[in-house]
This record gives sequence, structure tokens and C-alpha cells, in this order.
Amino acid sequence: MSAAISVRLLYRYFGTIKAVNGISFDIPHGSVCGFVGANGAGKTTTMRMLATLDYPTMGSAEICGVSVVNHPDKVRSLIGWMPDHFGNYEHMTVLEYLDFYARALGYTGNERRSRIEEVMAFADLVPLADRLSNKLSKGMTQRLCLGRALLHDPQVLIMDEPAAGLDPRARVELKHLIRILAEEGKTIFISSHILSELGEMCDSLLFINAGRIIHHGDAESLKHGSDEAGGAFYDIQVDDRPDSVSDWVVLNPDVEVIESRKKGARIRISSAEPAKAADVLRKMVRDGVRVTEFHREERNLEDAFIDILGQIEQGNADIEPSGELQTSPPQAIRELLENTDSSPLQSPPSTEPEEGNSGGTSPLSS
Ligand code: ATP
Repeated sequence: MSAAISVRLLYRYFGTIKAVNGISFDIPHGSVCGFVGANGAGKTTTMRMLATLDYPTMGSAEICGVSVVNHPDKVRSLIGWMPDHFGNYEHMTVLEYLDFYARALGYTGNERRSRIEEVMAFADLVPLADRLSNKLSKGMTQRLCLGRALLHDPQVLIMDEPAAGLDPRARVELKHLIRILAEEGKTIFISSHILSELGEMCDSLLFINAGRIIHHGDAESLKHGSDEAGGAFYDIQVDDRPDSVSDWVVLNPDVEVIESRKKGARIRISSAEPAKAADVLRKMVRDGVRVTEFHREERNLEDAFIDILGQIEQGNADIEPSGELQTSPPQAIRELLENTDSSPLQSPPSTEPEEGNSGGTSPLSS
């Protein structure tokens, strides 16, 4: 079965700004994927293309096997979109607001009533039914936006920074709703700056930096290290000179000293396999390093993200092939795309810097 979201060599340039620069990834059906990156990394631009609100400069993206470029109308019925900012209408209650969107989506009669009731119950909007939609708290507004995005029972939810500006309680509520949706089998693609929270609710994390994917993996392997993330980190303590670790590492290319410490060092072993760590420890002891402590480090996700960025800066990160430095999409990629049915080569309406370059109007957009 194809992935719920499948992106291949996707580019979006705004004039000279390479907002999205040749990214590829797959998100399986029924999983929650966190999309992480600094301000300006390319998250919103990627999500807007997936939501059919913007055209790729080049490359392909599919939702449940349907191309966002060739069949945007079909895609809109498959996705629920929660933008980072959305407008509310004045003088419209929560109930009227949902009713308006349910009508726009084509629901009539009992079906419309039951869709509205269902999303109001799910997003805890029943007590707010008569409140003006533009006078809600941030947390209530996000629940209303989620309710609106779920009206047509989409298979895939794309959420751009839904937790931004929420207080801790509202964040917990949102996290809870997202987990329920995932248990119901929906695929959720969610961007956030709050890495620790994403780690708790996501099956995988996708890191983007300067328009390129720099890592895609699960939170556990990020915390404990993985081969893809460059190995695993260990704390070593010795009962002789702390330098004895760095001296030993010089002759062992699979091991790197990340930080010298008072009683030893923090090292990285290039493979995250426990057997490899056992080999390293055995060899150290055999070579006369007086190890008193050796344990695998659990990093928090922020540190893991920064470590991966650091590796990229050093030029030794495992970047996807399409992420190599380039000034324009290479000829080989153009040819590949031209010869692939599912990868249409798109000319955007314009590649000049522009505001909110909509690729179409969706009843889900605001
Ligand atoms: P943030 O976390 O701050 O929302 P982001 O990761 O979502 O950031 P994007 O909004 O995708 O980043 O922006 C990526 C880059 O593309 C930025 O340099 C941004 O200024 C630029 N950009 C985005 N939209 C446009 C546009 N319509 N015209 C020109 N440049 C744009």
C-alpha cells in the first residue's frame, strides 16, 4: 500500500529563496509524524504544498497516492488542514461557524447535523456552541479549527504549529485529541517547535533545515542514538588521566571524543549497535584505559536536533542524496521527473517572492 503522504524531490523557490530544496519522505498510514525545524526552515511552505495551497517549483507530492498537483480537488477531500494562523468571522457563533463550513463542504440535512455534532463532541465544543467564534481563547480557537478540519472526516490531518501560543493545559488537551485521532487510524503530520511534546506523541520526527530534510527517525532512536543519526553517545569515566580516553580514540576511527570531561569524556561510537559498544569497551580495557564507568547517554530531543545540525555543519552528516548543495535543481533530476508519470515537473505560476501564493481555493483554507 502506498504511504499516506509521499514526497519526492520537492522544490519550492521564491525568486532566489530556496524555501524547499529537494525534499523526499514518506509517512505511513495511521502514523503521527512531527515536522521540526527552525524559523524559516521550510515547514509551512512544505505543508502548504501538501494542502494544495501552493504549487511546487518542481517535484511530486501525493496524499494517499493522489497527486497534490494533478488532482488538488481529490486531495482536498482527503486532508484536513490546520494553518498556523486562521481568520474567524465576526458575529458568528461556534455552531454557525461549523454549520457554514459543513454547508460549504456540501453536507445537507441530517448528515450535516450529525457531522457537526460529531466534531463538536470530539473537540469539546458543545459548551461553546453559542459563543462568538472570534471571542474564544487561543485553546478554544484551536479546538474549533480542529473541529472544522475534521468536518469531512479526512484521512490525513496536516497541522501547522497547532500548539503555538497554547497554555500547558490546552497543549495537553490538544495532544490527547491528536492521540485519539491517531488511534482511529488517521495520519497526522504536525509541525512544532516544542520538540519534547512532539517526541511523546509522534511515531517519527522529520527534521528540516534550510529547505532540506536532515533526519527522519523515531524519537527513541534520536534519544538513544542510531546508525542513521551518526551513532550513539556514551559517558566514560576513568581513574587515571582523563586524556587517556582522547589518546586512545586517536587510534580508533570508529570513536570520536565529543567533549573532554573532568574524569573522562563524552564519546560517540559510529554504530548504535550494543555489540559495537561492547567491542569498544573491551578494546579500551585491553589497551590499558582504566575505565570505571561506561554508559549510554539518553539525549533530549533538542540536543539530538542540535547534534544533527552540528554534524551537517561539519559536513559529515548523512544527508539524503537529493539534499546535496546545489544552486538549482540538477539536470539529472529534471530528466528523472520528466520520465516519471507520478512526478510531474511543475512550473509554478511565479517564482518571484510573493505573499500567500495560493494554488487554488479550498473550503478548508482560510
Ligand atoms: P516558521 O517556523 O517561522 O513558521 P517555516 O519553517 O514554516 O518557519 P517557511 O514559512 O516555510 O518556514 O519559510 C521558508 C522560507 O521561505 C523563509 O525564508 C521565508 O521567508 C520564505 N518564504 C515563505 N513564503 C514566502 C513567500 N510567499 N514569498 C517569499 N518568501 C517566502
